Amino acid sequence: MAITVFRDPVFELHEQPDMHPERPERVRAMYETLDGASFTDYLIAGEPRDATDEELRAVHTAEYIDSVATSAERDLTVFDADTAANRHSYAAARRASGCAAAAVDAVLDSPRPRALVASRPPGHHAEADHAAGFCFFNHVMVAACHALERGLERIFILDWDVHHGNGTFHSSYRRDDIFYASLHQYPHYPGTGRLGETGADAGSGKTLTVPLPGACDDDDYLYLMHELVAPAVRSYRPDLFIVSAGFDAHHDDPLGGMQLSSRVYASFAALECELADEFCDGRLIYVTEGGYSLTALRESLWEAANVLTGSPANFEPAGTPNDRVREIAKHVSAVHGGF
Ligand SMILES: [Zn+2]
Repeated sequence: MAITVFRDPVFELHEQPDMHPERPERVRAMYETLDGASFTDYLIAGEPRDATDEELRAVHTAEYIDSVATSAERDLTVFDADTAANRHSYAAARRASGCAAAAVDAVLDSPRPRALVASRPPGHHAEADHAAGFCFFNHVMVAACHALERGLERIFILDWDVHHGNGTFHSSYRRDDIFYASLHQYPHYPGTGRLGETGADAGSGKTLTVPLPGACDDDDYLYLMHELVAPAVRSYRPDLFIVSAGFDAHHDDPLGGMQLSSRVYASFAALECELADEFCDGRLIYVTEGGYSLTALRESLWEAANVLTGSPANFEPAGTPNDRVREIAKHVSAVHGGF
């Protein structure tokens, strides 16, 4: 089946100094993969656009947006120890958020309920008022807020990037209209996402936090997807499913400590498609986040996009999760009152 894909040359212009792992080659690797695949004919180009001021202000403070905007006037603006901007970073980040919002329009207004935003810089570490972890604007939050503006009522964001999406987590923690689920390595950067955090106030129970020890493999993740993520989706009954798609839990990734294969991303996509079909009229949006091994990024994105365009996953690991992962799943399920 055809899906809408958003890509833009500006994503290659954002660069950070000192051999930074979040580099332009990442997006080139993604585009080469998408151009040379058996499913390339099913990828329909979406029209890239910038996020509007209103869309960014739904997630970020006006002062912070201005501070990112002024970085376009200088060759280098350092935001934190590992996040820096050149003259193009603001344009790239703003375009990436705009494409995430445009993906919402695409799944609502076109005959294609699935969309992929292949962009950089990533977004899930970006907080309301500051940049962090290679991220400036929080694209999945911009998309979720835009979807609510468009009349949808409950947005489910699943984040299986190896890092906890602190920005998405904090921005959604007290809301009941955005459910944030994260599977991430812990302790690890950014240090947030502890066991037992389930949301607060109106958002109570609307955050699923699954902190994991390093070296978790396909069996561990698939077990958690079926035992925790799927039940959370079924109890929340979202009308849009957004995936923060970071491919850095892959065993080849230089920044992550997990052991996922490329093929497991096909299984993730298959389950997400199934859940989106069940609750969201099929509406499913992938927005890329991390993933710093170019080989792993190519292979993993291929596996995911192959399934999004309608191929079966053809991958069922036979093993069982380790005891520590079972224990964590039991605890997380219990704090949510049992899934
Ligand atoms: Zn990451």
